[in-house]
Amino acid sequence: MKCFYHSETEAVCTCVGCGKGLCSSCGSVSTPPRCPDCLMKETEKKFRHFLYTAIVSAFFFLVTALILFFAVGVSAFRSPLWWLLMIVIMTIPWGWRFLHSLFPAFFISTSIFLLVLYFIFEAALSVFAGIVVMPWQIFSIVRLFIKTQKLKKKFR
Ligand SMILES: [Zn+2]
Ligand SMILES: [Zn+2]
Repeated sequence: MKCFYHSETEAVCTCVGCGKGLCSSCGSVSTPPRCPDCLMKETEKKFRHFLYTAIVSAFFFLVTALILFFAVGVSAFRSPLWWLLMIVIMTIPWGWRFLHSLFPAFFISTSIFLLVLYFIFEAALSVFAGIVVMPWQIFSIVRLFIKTQKLKKKFR
């Protein structure tokens, strides 16, 4: 079998997504080997997830800002402590998503009490996870974007 992208080169592996033959140069772009088309699809999915979390995060930030505005007034926005609170709340969706990717179905119960307890516990855990996960996710998506641009150049 020949490489799908280089018809003169022998394929050394196949794409795990669609089974196309890939040469060593094409196969080494990602581990496990994926063809540029499947890699692009993966990347788009990651970008979509990122965007979704970013929107929810911005929503959390705005809701907290609104609550503060009505509860404390404009003076709240002059205090660094309230800004800190808004930023901490903003990290919850990032932590939440991270925890769910780690434990997809980590707790299933028919008891409402246990479910409520679980959600409170997970929200608290999300705050701690989110503080680390949010900057890391932003860093990763920037890195992924740069990698995608390089990949596009390579296969064009
Ligand atoms: Zn493929
Ligand atoms: Zn190739």
